[in-house]
Amino acid sequence: MHYTGLIFRPPYEEKSLLLQVTTGCSHNRCTFCSMYQEVPFTVSPIEEVEEDILYIAKHNTLFKRVFLVNGDAFCLSTERLVRIAELIHEHLPRIQTIGGYASIKNVLAKSVDELRLLAELGYADFNIGLESGLDDVLSFMNKGYTLEEARMALARLNEAGMPFNLNIITCAAGRGRTLEHAEANARIVNEARPTLIFVSPLHVDKGARLEQLVESGEFVRRLEVEDCVFFGLHVSNPVRVSGRLPEDKDLIVEELEAGLNFYPEWRLNAVPAKGAEGRMIG
Ligand code: SF4
Repeated sequence: MHYTGLIFRPPYEEKSLLLQVTTGCSHNRCTFCSMYQEVPFTVSPIEEVEEDILYIAKHNTLFKRVFLVNGDAFCLSTERLVRIAELIHEHLPRIQTIGGYASIKNVLAKSVDELRLLAELGYADFNIGLESGLDDVLSFMNKGYTLEEARMALARLNEAGMPFNLNIITCAAGRGRTLEHAEANARIVNEARPTLIFVSPLHVDKGARLEQLVESGEFVRRLEVEDCVFFGLHVSNPVRVSGRLPEDKDLIVEELEAGLNFYPEWRLNAVPAKGAEGRMIG
């Protein structure tokens, strides 16, 4: 298999086949991200992708999902993504869905018709780093899009019938803006209707983990989504908790508040807060 540099995937993709279709990240300018700094962005030759698919077809046909790597595999042209899906379905008939990391910019570069075509070919549940529901935070993070553009992109995915997962970085607005950020994040997530919300903290300041916990609780309290997974099991979350929304909403908030009340501040701000894991709900 061809893998270049460090390969990243969300924790909930641990059973997916990791198939390299690009190296690096086509944006590679987010202020908080160093994941692909050492790896130049390139598009993998289709022959190389096919070679890897054939290798897996020969050695392991049990995978049901493909996770395309690296940083923003959805930046590929629709034509290239169609070809990759055709190869996957031809040689790996058990594969049901294909995902990967996608940026808002990647989605905006595709029309509703293109997205619909890709959804019909099995593309689903891309992990999209929305990060924040505040324009100034997006700009500070150098994400390369505005909140309005994010709204348009996510509405386009819904119109095309392609489900997606959203990443939110709590505490990204900085100290003193915890509630404002939680409210803004809940607003955009409620509007966007993702399948899964992946929460991880930005922990650069002293005290950030404690604030992250407060913000997570406020964020969940304000969510009004249907049939959505809340995934807060990132290793850097001071209290790790996961469940289904809306049914587990009260339990998730309770669990976050229990962690907030139970652990002393120094413990919550220790990195990582071993033993402050919380629990899986549902
Ligand atoms: S788009 Fe994603 S992978 Fe690329 S620089 Fe930003 S956070 Fe990192």
